[in-house]
Amino acid sequence: MTTPSPAEQVLKTVFGYDRFRGHQLAIINHLLAGHDALVLMPTGGGKSLCYQIPSLLRDGVGIVISPLIALMQDQVTALLQLGVKAAFLNSALSFEQARLVEQQLLANELDLLYIAPERLTAARTSALFSQLKIALFAIDEAHCVSQWGHDFRADYLQLSLLHEQYPNIPRIALTATADEKTQQEIVLRLGLTHAQLFRSGFDRPNIRYRIVQKQNAKQQLLTFIEAEHLGDAGIVYCLSRKKVDDTSAWLTAQGINALPYHAGMSNELRSRYQQRFLMEEGLVMVATIAFGMGIDKPNVRFVAHLDLPKSVEAYYQETGRAGRDGLPANAWMVYGLQDVITLRRMLSESPADEAHKRIEFHKLDAMLALCEQVHCRRQALLSYFGDQLDQACGNCDTCLEPVQTWDGTLAAQQALSCVYRSGQRFGVHYLIDILLGKSNERIIKLEHDRLSTFGIGKALDEQQWHSVFRQLVARGLVAVDFERFGALQLTDSCRPVLRGEQALMLRKDSKQEKSKRSKGTKTLTGQRTNSLWDALRNKRKDIAEVQGVPPYVIFHDATLMAMLEAKPKNRQQMARISGVGARKLELYADAFLAVINEQ
Ligand code: ADP
Ligand code: ZN
Repeated sequence: MTTPSPAEQVLKTVFGYDRFRGHQLAIINHLLAGHDALVLMPTGGGKSLCYQIPSLLRDGVGIVISPLIALMQDQVTALLQLGVKAAFLNSALSFEQARLVEQQLLANELDLLYIAPERLTAARTSALFSQLKIALFAIDEAHCVSQWGHDFRADYLQLSLLHEQYPNIPRIALTATADEKTQQEIVLRLGLTHAQLFRSGFDRPNIRYRIVQKQNAKQQLLTFIEAEHLGDAGIVYCLSRKKVDDTSAWLTAQGINALPYHAGMSNELRSRYQQRFLMEEGLVMVATIAFGMGIDKPNVRFVAHLDLPKSVEAYYQETGRAGRDGLPANAWMVYGLQDVITLRRMLSESPADEAHKRIEFHKLDAMLALCEQVHCRRQALLSYFGDQLDQACGNCDTCLEPVQTWDGTLAAQQALSCVYRSGQRFGVHYLIDILLGKSNERIIKLEHDRLSTFGIGKALDEQQWHSVFRQLVARGLVAVDFERFGALQLTDSCRPVLRGEQALMLRKDSKQEKSKRSKGTKTLTGQRTNSLWDALRNKRKDIAEVQGVPPYVIFHDATLMAMLEAKPKNRQQMARISGVGARKLELYADAFLAVINEQ
């Protein structure tokens, strides 16, 4: 056996981990050698270690620029637990507290300093930094420099000064945003042309992707939570504030521990709820996308979407908040025709210029294609980001329960000609009534019972017709006229189908989402209840409460799982558990050993 390198030693003794993942070691060595790096790694990939370990090993303090106060606090809390000397400087500190941190810095007592970008440019900070030995600069969430992205932070543009003022201090920029354009912008704006790029694959294999047909969304959500996630932490995304409030109240009434979160709430209430989400176990946050960045909670076990995200990028980012700890997690979404209509309407009514709108429509189309996907969803998702997955993943709904297709050419022709013959003035419900030959008052009044398409669609039921129309709209064969209350109209691309020149294979929707647990889904421990698991979690909760920190900074779920499996009997065995470093061993081993030995 070769002697471990200093980086490997720190990994084991400080963090309690046995080996590096992916590019971690290469990145660390690159920084230790004094070079710059640009790191693209998915959420949960382990970006923080890439700058934390070099900061510990290099002389001086590592300066981490981070866009959100909550993120900084979380990281510093976790580092202090590991016995790493870390602090932050941001607007949450009083003048006195900030001065204390500055004194620690000047006394060379800190290994890591987290700082807000706007603070970095202040004259006081420059004066302070000029007196310090700096190990490196880490720019976290580096995509915040991108003006096209949704997380743009003007202060990030100032970060180019690091390059100018400290040309000899290594810099590392990190992001989980994969796309080429953002990457180029980061390089340009941060002056990283000479930085080495470390790009990891963007797959999140522990996340199971599922998109089901929307019937009764709230009830479907409840069934999903009750079957697979009772007592787990999760995030439920909704489009509107009202829906957030309604859904959260309804879940609470059904006995689920849920809280709302949206931009219409006061800052104070929002930060209180966010704090509760971090500190408590098993809380479900029902939120608009206002809730997102800065949620570093590693054990979010599911992300549910009750409304369709506007793009695959947004979907991937939001679902990516599940399972940062690498343990199994679910990304679950309900989706239906109304979603398509609502989002298309929002886009067409937005005040953006035409070129911009066109891009947004394309993005929505890509999202719809993902929803209607009949092959492996993960392959489709990754290929959107330019990553190849050679084989179907086996951990998404289409892999677990293969989707059947059917020849929908005739049905599509019937639907399209029904749209045409009734004058392209009606919405989907009415069109289905005509196809099914319902002689209701309106149909008779408008004499649509005389149309050649009246009653020609009896081979399918109402739900199946909904499915046909949804797919026609999703594929752009039919457009929705928002000025006329959602009337459907033919588009040019439907002609080949109408003329019989092009066959149309459609997705066969499963009749009703089964309330039974989907194949292969397990709770974390593989069983509904496990007394040792509960006892370990309770111990963690007690310790966390006394210290006023989130339970996961004491030990991650993965570490408790490892204890559950290995059942260490003494300190020596406990030290081998992944996630138990020297300091945590000293602080907590006895308490957890007692729990294990009691069983
Ligand atoms: P990111 O910032 O890329 O989303 P983090 O740095 O928060 O990811 O790491 C995600 C999780 O993986 C954390 O719980 C971290 O402790 C854990 N982790 C990182 N590197 C390793 C490793 N080499 N071995 C085991 N766990 C790791
Ligand atoms: Zn798959």
